[in-house]
Amino acid sequence: MKKENKNQYNISTNFIDLTKQQSFIRDKLDAAIKKVLDHGKYIMGPEVYEFEENLAKFSGAKFVSSCANGTDALTISMMALNIKKGDYIIAPSFTYIASVEAAAILGIKPIFVDVDMNTYNIDPKSVKEAIIFAKNNNLNVKALIAVDLFGLPHEYDEIKALVDENNIKIIHDAAQSFGAKYKEKRVGSYADITTTSFFPAKPLGCYGDGGAIFTNNEESHELIKSIRLHGKGIEKYEHVNLGMNSRLDSLQAAILNVKLAVFPEEIRKRNEVARLYLDKLDENIKKPLMPKDCVLTWAQFTIKSHSKDKIILSLKEKKIPYAIYYPKPLHLQPAYTKYLLPDMPFLKNSEILSNIVLSLPMHPYLSEEEIFGITEVINTAIK
Ligand SMILES: *Cc1c(COP(=O)(O)O)cnc(C)c1O
Repeated sequence: MKKENKNQYNISTNFIDLTKQQSFIRDKLDAAIKKVLDHGKYIMGPEVYEFEENLAKFSGAKFVSSCANGTDALTISMMALNIKKGDYIIAPSFTYIASVEAAAILGIKPIFVDVDMNTYNIDPKSVKEAIIFAKNNNLNVKALIAVDLFGLPHEYDEIKALVDENNIKIIHDAAQSFGAKYKEKRVGSYADITTTSFFPAKPLGCYGDGGAIFTNNEESHELIKSIRLHGKGIEKYEHVNLGMNSRLDSLQAAILNVKLAVFPEEIRKRNEVARLYLDKLDENIKKPLMPKDCVLTWAQFTIKSHSKDKIILSLKEKKIPYAIYYPKPLHLQPAYTKYLLPDMPFLKNSEILSNIVLSLPMHPYLSEEEIFGITEVINTAIK
């Protein structure tokens, strides 16, 4: 067992503390891993198919394909939707790089749009402007990448109405929101294609890399299954599509089956932690939203403050971990400035947010004592 580092507040100094979760499920994990070692089917073993069935049941999606990671999940989705070099996608600038990288690697160009200051998700007004811009400039926009940043589901009906009349598909990047609910529907069950990641620090994480793709469209599903396996046809060594090697390891699937079983309870706990944070943090801190018609997964608990630097100094002094997601919007990243289009509206909110956001420790097993300690340090820092 790893030794836990604690500070004077008895707060774990790991930003996302995975040791507590492991201590609760260690026996089940050991047994699941042993089973894989015993049967030896390391690639596409029975655990992979079992996990895909469990994911479909849990999410309500008709079809689920696991894959190697969340970035591949996005790339495969774009290939399955036949989005090609020279096509455009609309994507937020304030997100993790993978949301756009997956397109760029295929020669698909992003049109960056701004996010909402309060939801951190794509701003429908900015999407509308991007669609008009694309029309005026004859840019062929094929998809909108809807990233549920920090675990808050998009106001989906609104963006869906916007893109539908323009024949634009929605690829729902739920790497941070898998497990969340929007109007009673589980993320994964309503977009054209939804992708997620099982990177260890995500709400549902494995002990390595992993990802999955969700759709209700059988044709898309068949393509996705083929693309992740070298474009495989029905016969072995028959290749009917251009594909890639992107499979989830049996060992990771075995671990995920154990973790998925406790995930609903963990989502409940994450929301309790969030509610405590919201209660205890000073009113002068801009806190994340918790809309009534959504269940959030709280991949991050992210506050906004113009006194962020002062807060960070205090957190550092008390050895309380924190993180900045994300310090630089994508349109200002050296590898992506070339995609900035002339006459596009200034991506103001993305730039402001990158200067004022601060993410606090968040996982299902944070104790009241830890939350009280963290909020006390922050509230004192801004006094
Ligand atoms: C983590 C993440 C990804 C990529 O997932 P990987 O499994 O690390 O490839 C994509 N999009 C978002 C929003 C993420 O947070």
